[in-house]
Amino acid sequence: MTIAGDLASMIGNTPLIRLRQASAATGCTILGKAEFMNPGQSIKDRAALFIIRDAVARGALRPGGTIVEGTAGNTGIGLALVGASMGFRAVIVIPETQSQEKKDMLRLAGAELVQVPAAPYANPDNYVRYSGRLAAALAQTEPAGAIWANQFDNLANRQAHAETTGPEIWDQTGGAVDGFVCAVGTGGTLAGVAMALQPKGVKIALADPEGAALHSYYTTGVLHAEGGSITEGIGQGRITANLESLRPDMSFCIPDSEALPVLFDLAAHEGLCLGGSSGVNVAGAIRMARALGPGHTIVTILCDPGTRYQSKLYNPAFLRAHNLPVPGWLDPGAPARG
Ligand code: PMP
Repeated sequence: MTIAGDLASMIGNTPLIRLRQASAATGCTILGKAEFMNPGQSIKDRAALFIIRDAVARGALRPGGTIVEGTAGNTGIGLALVGASMGFRAVIVIPETQSQEKKDMLRLAGAELVQVPAAPYANPDNYVRYSGRLAAALAQTEPAGAIWANQFDNLANRQAHAETTGPEIWDQTGGAVDGFVCAVGTGGTLAGVAMALQPKGVKIALADPEGAALHSYYTTGVLHAEGGSITEGIGQGRITANLESLRPDMSFCIPDSEALPVLFDLAAHEGLCLGGSSGVNVAGAIRMARALGPGHTIVTILCDPGTRYQSKLYNPAFLRAHNLPVPGWLDPGAPARG
């Protein structure tokens, strides 16, 4: 038994779990890194911790200071929890289209929420750009100062994964890992893990949700987005500072109609009830396994829990309205799942 001294020391060192169905279907070993087991229940706790530590080390964040961020949810939850544990206040700007579960969780984590209409990055009222202005304004008025976490372009985000996620994967597999694949929100996870593992010969792949711009960028050189995926937190439309170093070896475009059956099978048969980006990631790992051939070991990320999306992803009416497959066991009154 060990006793954690604080919340920060509980972040990371998550287990790798062998994904039985994906491995059996491909003849590969497909492993999921269980990031939903972090204290804030997502991959973003790592970035939140590194961003806060970096700001403290630079003297930008002083005791009682305010952390401001524009976030689709998980980064905000991480910033609010880590912030609360260290005596900082968190103000989170979020598009009002995000799931109610994530908004509720942000409030529970102690964040003050500022909801804005969803708008593309080109619009000055886009949530990320709005949060930058708000941070600049609060830095003038708050007695203990304020910082903009700026996860998209703050390289402390990528550094978290270069220093923790990537080396953990290497150590946990004893170096017997051939490929790593995941989707991109800020790019911190993919680019940071690539920094740690690509020089060791591990192939790096992007799994992009349908209609997102990066698959088009890495395969044709053109950033072209069409949108359309119901997944949240992923699907980036620009080359963020965190992505600048990334040179993926492979790229896969994963439609929701491919990711969701994988996600539902994980819940029904492996006890893993996860958010939509994990479905894109595991579907991406299956594609990478088929591209590399049997006998390889591929690692991906299980980003956050399905409970964060009960009203959408796991709601038959929502799925039907989006012409997406509804697993029989999700329908009320359906026979018990087998
Ligand atoms: N999955 C979920 C559920 C997320 O919230 C995020 C971050 N927005 C990601 C994946 C992508 O992670 P990253 O920002 O490191 O690219």
